[in-house]
Amino acid sequence: MPMLKTSGVVIKAYDYAEADRLLVIFSEEMGKIRVRARGVRKIKSKQAGKLEIPTQAEFQLHCRPGGDLYLLTGVKARCLYRGLKGQLDRWLSACYCLELLNEMSVENDAQPELWTLLLDTLKVLETGSALKTVARGFEQKILSLAGYGLETESCVSCGRELRGESYGFDPLQGGILCQGCSRRGTGSRLSLHGDSLLAIKELRERPLVEYGEELGPRQDAELSALSRIYVESIIERELKTPRVIREMEAEIGVKNSEL
Ligand SMILES: [Zn+2]
Repeated sequence: MPMLKTSGVVIKAYDYAEADRLLVIFSEEMGKIRVRARGVRKIKSKQAGKLEIPTQAEFQLHCRPGGDLYLLTGVKARCLYRGLKGQLDRWLSACYCLELLNEMSVENDAQPELWTLLLDTLKVLETGSALKTVARGFEQKILSLAGYGLETESCVSCGRELRGESYGFDPLQGGILCQGCSRRGTGSRLSLHGDSLLAIKELRERPLVEYGEELGPRQDAELSALSRIYVESIIERELKTPRVIREMEAEIGVKNSEL
């Protein structure tokens, strides 16, 4: 049975069989892989704490010939990102980015730019500021790296140059609509202001560590809705974390209004 070692981050983990955990690991050398960790839910297991999201570790794996599920044989934790777990907004932002990465990446295919983006994002979310903008930037960067980057210069429907103050978005055509096409109702699912279109370009091009400050609430809402609608149309199901975040924000809003 061939053995291999790789650096990786646990991006999803769930219970499997009687005492096992099934891990989705985004690795430096092989991209996204699925790994079975045997017996780690037993009380005496020393590995359990090292296998939670979003631990970064060196993983030692066995690979069965012809199988697509690796077997964990050893793990050496490198970073547990403890700063993320103590604060709800940092934690939820990280969970959201991990969910997007899991949904938008393919298995067993090294993707070094996604690996770098993952480590940069976790670091910024753990210690940095402008968490919502980091999430918006992660959305635009991962869409681009996965081959779904938005065309921001011309209308996806008629090809005219995008100039003006308001636009639409068509998830099925995967692009921004000019004002004319948007008004004609050719598939537009939301309206975007001109500054949101500029923000898409800037978020995509600038490194996450340079963001510094949050977008305005309207821009954040527009870009957040655009990414969610777009990604959900690509993966053909609902993302889980945005719903959790919306429900928690609604609950906090209700509590604040009762004060
Ligand atoms: Zn158009």
